[in-house]
Amino acid sequence: MSRILISLFIILSFWSCSQGNKDTQYTSLKKHDIKYVFTPIETQGQFRLKVDLYFNPKESSQIILPNQWGNQSKLHQAITDLKIHNLDTQLISDHDESVKQIKPMRNRTIHLSYILKQDWVGKMQSNRNYYRPILQKNYMHLIGETFLIYPNWGLEEKINVVFEWNLPEKWNFINSFNQNKNYQQRNITLNDLKYALFIGGDFRIYKKIIKGDPVFFAIRGNWKFSDKKINDLITTSIKTTRHFWKDYSFPHYLVSLIPTKGDCCYHAGTALKNSIALFMTEGQYITADLKYIITHENFHTWNGQKMTRQIPEENVFWFSEGFTNYYTRLLNLRSGLIDLNGYIKSYNQALKDYYTHPQRLLQNRQVSNQFWKNRNLYQLPYLKGDILAHLWNHQLKSNNLNLDDFMRLMLRSSISNQPTINNSNIVNNMNKLNTIDSNIDITRYIEQGNLFAQHINNMGKCIKLEMKNINVTDNVQENHWGAISTYKKPSSKIIKFPQYKLNKKLYSENKELCLAYFE
Ligand SMILES: [Zn+2]
Repeated sequence: MSRILISLFIILSFWSCSQGNKDTQYTSLKKHDIKYVFTPIETQGQFRLKVDLYFNPKESSQIILPNQWGNQSKLHQAITDLKIHNLDTQLISDHDESVKQIKPMRNRTIHLSYILKQDWVGKMQSNRNYYRPILQKNYMHLIGETFLIYPNWGLEEKINVVFEWNLPEKWNFINSFNQNKNYQQRNITLNDLKYALFIGGDFRIYKKIIKGDPVFFAIRGNWKFSDKKINDLITTSIKTTRHFWKDYSFPHYLVSLIPTKGDCCYHAGTALKNSIALFMTEGQYITADLKYIITHENFHTWNGQKMTRQIPEENVFWFSEGFTNYYTRLLNLRSGLIDLNGYIKSYNQALKDYYTHPQRLLQNRQVSNQFWKNRNLYQLPYLKGDILAHLWNHQLKSNNLNLDDFMRLMLRSSISNQPTINNSNIVNNMNKLNTIDSNIDITRYIEQGNLFAQHINNMGKCIKLEMKNINVTDNVQENHWGAISTYKKPSSKIIKFPQYKLNKKLYSENKELCLAYFE
């Protein structure tokens, strides 16, 4: 009890210091390294968030402001009235707009405050503006890196962070760390903070339990499906993916869905810390695309998060995105979210997209250099990785193994603070299975960008290969042993590409037989 009273005293004395806007003492923030206090304010009818930030100085005197997230830039434009409250101390601007210097830096708790506003208007979904802070009268949707200022410390160092929320009483709120808790204390890294999701407002929040741990689902808006239906779907997808990785270490998990406005039917998602944020045009039905997004983003918890990518990460998107796409389809089939017809239809589309892609022969280096600049290139790493995963899985099957064995080896080989996803680690793990010369395949199909020339003849007893022809007129960038030439084809060209055909009669008679290949 006495300990509680002492803690209460420390909190109260700290609170009075900060309230009084006096120079705070170093000792006042002893219990934690960073504290954020969030208080809503209304200015000219607009909902805004006042953020008070306290931290004890360490080696760096710099603070980092929001700047880039996904395709969004200049995120610091959402921050106004940035002030430092310590006496005789100033914030000095840097040539980089997202960095400020605290001068002089003394051994005392720093207190900063700023007002966060929504810095965009118009329809949500155009150009992924929903990644920017959303602050509306009835709800907020915030991703850590897009609205939090933090000291320039090591991103992987564990620190004690406190969040204090003074949100409207009627609001439901939840984030990557907890639900409806006005005071939260967490031992996390700055990277966890950057990738955290914070939402609140008129969300309908549901809780399901998977192996003893809660999975929360927060949804707002009107849809052509019930909350229960989509919540069940999400739970099935998460259960299947965790079962695949044999990993249930998730004490708290959140999936959110907010409606966007614009042309139907938009779906997008992003995997964040202990969470997935989904965005979809309002009023939609449950579609195959929605099931795809949910499983794809959940799979990234491992392929991209627990197994981190090398830098530059675009070089290995063929693995983190392409293999994730392969498993999205496969796990949705295994869990019954799609059937074998759906699987074949989706993979046939991927094959067609790849073989008719105008830049299918680009080298990986060129694809990754232009990945964020050239929208046409965006799909290439997804498609190439998806096809390579199918090929490797098929070859491993000849040795009574499959790609699942390789993926689990990859996860086991991951060491904290070191990127798991790089070509040499992929080759090393594949070598352990003694079946495939993965180095040759990566060099030929990914790095050099040669067209996939091998095709799987049969996927089990019910699916057969059929080569098809298509007329394509495109700007072709040909890759002749590394020399690139771009030219417009004067006339259309016939391209041969693989497609798979399911024996529907056999499938209806004996599903087990047809699905055995995918187990
Ligand atoms: Zn992805």
